Amino acid sequence: GRKFCVGGNWKMNGSKASITDLCKVLTAGPLDPNVEIVVGCPAVYISFARSLLPESIRVAGQNAYKAKSGAFTGEMAPSMLLDVGADWVIIGHSERRQIFGESDELIAEKVAFALAEGMKVIACIGETLQEREAGQTEAVCFRQTKAIAATVKDWTNVVIAYEPVWAIGTGKTATPAQAQEVHAALRKWFTENVSPEVSDAIRIQYGGSVTAANCRELGSQPDIDGFLVGGASLKPEFVQIVNAKQ
Ligand code: 13P
Repeated sequence: GRKFCVGGNWKMNGSKASITDLCKVLTAGPLDPNVEIVVGCPAVYISFARSLLPESIRVAGQNAYKAKSGAFTGEMAPSMLLDVGADWVIIGHSERRQIFGESDELIAEKVAFALAEGMKVIACIGETLQEREAGQTEAVCFRQTKAIAATVKDWTNVVIAYEPVWAIGTGKTATPAQAQEVHAALRKWFTENVSPEVSDAIRIQYGGSVTAANCRELGSQPDIDGFLVGGASLKPEFVQIVNAKQ
């Protein structure tokens, strides 16, 4: 079976004070030991968060560039994230795609480079409302996944996060049936375009307005293998979301 994997994406939120409080809550738990837990922390606070969390909670960066070092002002290398205590990185979040103009190709290159540097990657995909309403949900998700598949050889350290853009930060969660439909379509895509083995093993998280109130029903869907949580990952309710399968 696939190990349930719950990520928090703190986005550009937090301070030493608020991260201290949040890490206390997460440390107190209790957290389902059968769940892999990752928190995506602003880069400047990674070593601080790492120092406050138990080993069982992993820390992720929210972006990493596709080079080891050099003249890339404002960017950070996977080796730098590893050096300060993040062994995961979130790549291709819709905010990176939309606000910072990251293309499918750049995201795919960053995923491959982070993997080659020894990181685990949460690779994000998902359609906008306009694309959903135009009936393009699967086409968009498949296009984004195909770009990543063109660069990735070994999927062991990759988790896919399906995050419909219209559900992010809006309180408009995809229904369990809507999410399951896309997750199942993605798994079929992996069977047909990568291999049945990868399709069976790869974790696909759902993200977009996940809360303690809706996580159980979403998490009971057969192809939903965890969550990527934004707003609720900054609150004590993240503990309940981690424990959705209990
Ligand atoms: P919300 O949970 O705040 O909708 O954000 C989801 C998200 O973007 C996680 O990466």
